Amino acid sequence: MTVYCPNCGHKARITSRNNLNDAKTVADLYCQCMNTKDCGATFVATIGFKHYLNPPAASTLQMAANLLNTLSKAERDQLLKGNPAG
Ligand SMILES: [Zn+2]
Repeated sequence: MTVYCPNCGHKARITSRNNLNDAKTVADLYCQCMNTKDCGATFVATIGFKHYLNPPAASTLQMAANLLNTLSKAERDQLLKGNPAG
């Protein structure tokens, strides 16, 4: 992950991270601008998890299992034959 200096736009180095919740989905990143000659600012940037683009594999399997459990045996057999429409 690249963090850019808000002052000069140069790449910055993450020097430490402070997680703001137990799930580690939100954190403050302590950063130092690598443009040491002209800037060298240090600053804090916040990162946070937003949403999944694809659910984790375990979630997908659980969702599939939950859906299969709502079907009758005949419906499951039909689905496994690759002909869900009947
Ligand atoms: Zn800078």
